[in-house]
Amino acid sequence: MSTPTDRSRSLDVVVVGAGFGGLYALHRLRGLGLSVRVYEAGSGVGGTWYWNRYPGARCDVESLEYSYSFSQELEQEWDWSERYAPQPEILRYIDHVADRFDLRRDIQFDTRVTAAAFDETLGRWRVTTDQGDDVSARFCVMATGCLSAATTPDIPGLQSFQGDWFHTGQWPHEGVDFSGKRVGIVGTGSSGIQSIPVIARQASNLVVFQRTPNFSLPARNEPLAPDAQAQVKAGYGALRDAARGSFSAIAVSAPTELALEVDPAERRRRYEAAWARGGLMSMTTTFRDLILDKAANDTAAEFIRSKICEIVDDPDVARVLTPTDHPFATKRPCLDTGYFETFNRDNVTLVDLRQTPITEIVPTGIRTTGGVHELDCIVFATGFDAMTGPLLRIDIRGRGDRPLRDKWSAGPRTYLGIATAGFPNLFILTGPGSPSVLSNMVMAIEQHVDWIADCLSYLGAHGLDAIEATVDAEDAWVDHVNQLAGATLFPRANSWYMGANVPGKPRVFLPYVGGFPQYRSTCDAVAAEGYRGFGLTAAAAAAERP
Ligand SMILES: Cc1cc2nc3c(=O)[nH]c(=O)nc-3n(C[C@H](O)[C@H](O)[C@H](O)COP(=O)(O)OP(=O)(O)OC[C@H]3O[C@@H](n4cnc5c(N)ncnc54)[C@H](O)[C@@H]3O)c2cc1C
Repeated sequence: MSTPTDRSRSLDVVVVGAGFGGLYALHRLRGLGLSVRVYEAGSGVGGTWYWNRYPGARCDVESLEYSYSFSQELEQEWDWSERYAPQPEILRYIDHVADRFDLRRDIQFDTRVTAAAFDETLGRWRVTTDQGDDVSARFCVMATGCLSAATTPDIPGLQSFQGDWFHTGQWPHEGVDFSGKRVGIVGTGSSGIQSIPVIARQASNLVVFQRTPNFSLPARNEPLAPDAQAQVKAGYGALRDAARGSFSAIAVSAPTELALEVDPAERRRRYEAAWARGGLMSMTTTFRDLILDKAANDTAAEFIRSKICEIVDDPDVARVLTPTDHPFATKRPCLDTGYFETFNRDNVTLVDLRQTPITEIVPTGIRTTGGVHELDCIVFATGFDAMTGPLLRIDIRGRGDRPLRDKWSAGPRTYLGIATAGFPNLFILTGPGSPSVLSNMVMAIEQHVDWIADCLSYLGAHGLDAIEATVDAEDAWVDHVNQLAGATLFPRANSWYMGANVPGKPRVFLPYVGGFPQYRSTCDAVAAEGYRGFGLTAAAAAAERP
């Protein structure tokens, strides 16, 4: 085993990223007796919850589920304050995890991994960072996150803006006081929809620049009553098992009925009940064909549209806010607290960028084809280069010095979303081709990390040093992932799931849509069959392969 001593050390595993994924990977792999080093670009742990400090940021999977399940003690000792914890609380939780499991001593903060190259002679990865680290590792675990590469639109004139501008995904740690300010916010995805009601209450004026109206559901966030929380904790294991057995790794019963099987009045009653309960799953799991059959989907979409129309006072504003160009849930549905109501405020203006697109940013504000909106601050809630962005921003090179950027130029190719042929001993957490962003991601992360830990134990126990996805297995997996996606309504939306929010990004549906249980049993079967679809070799042989 290697012992790390300095900036040119030799390690068993390099982990990139210290969010939920990187921290659990460190904990598990260190537990196997491996030397592990984590590199994290931020100054602290938390990943998503370290960077996204915008007003209103919170999870949209309920906190009791959006948390680690690997330690019963941790589950029992941590109390959540609300149904959906706000960002500061989630960050406190992750900080607590880092301390409780003594993780910080193996994490190097303020360090961005810039390149990782597989040395075929040594059968090892050479990893370099922007801080001058140049380390060698047998394995790389890319815990770089799916939503960590923030994208700011390329609008001419941004540098001329005399006010302050921010991206929700890179929010200043000291917070921003919008009191008395004229604020413009660009983007109405999840981050925009969470922050708009909060910013509107503080700013003197808020101008919302909307390109695509989104379906948003009420969160119905509320304090978590101690006795209700105690009850969940008393049966936490059962809740986690139910989550593992459900499509999105969230403990809900799978719907059995088709939307058009029930009569319209009953259907409406169920949608009303789901709306009243709030949350992502209540509406998406009302019927089992909502994401498969357009006619079924239309019934849910129409219901939500009718709600927008009821809530928003001005019919013209309501019309602009109403999504009509994509089926419900084919973009990640948003959860909100008073989003549509916010447009009834006197200090909030909605700008429809489909009618009056932005032409430039000027020193005093944003110019659209309709004129200049004078602003003191601009907030970009414009999201991320999802799933592939964080990986492709690193110069990753596999066999034959082949860049991952080349290999994935027409879209990502993985086996199980966890490995890619030609890049031995490189593991991707919640990568493209795995359930990932379609699931409770903490569960998805734990499943991947556990699988990787078992895999490394297996290699060790069998005197093997290298594992690499075969091209055949990868091709078959990519076909399978595409076929599943093609049978759903997902490809009909210009969503970040499809890469459509990033100019020039290949249009490919990124996550695996077959559901978490199906995916997990496939991964388990692959492992049980001696890592079917992977080539396993001893180090010397790996180095010799063409
Ligand atoms: C606002 C917001 C709300 C969300 N809410 C939910 C939710 O309710 N439920 C849910 O399931 N998911 C949610 N997600 C998805 C969320 O990203 C995951 O749940 C989870 O936090 C991902 O953890 P991770 O460790 O995989 O990645 P991240 O938390 O993204 O961490 C990745 C880390 O890698 C670091 N990194 C990246 N590249 C490099 C590099 N080259 N060198 C060094 N470090 C690097 C980044 O700085 C980052 O800290 C949300 C995402 C956002 C943005």
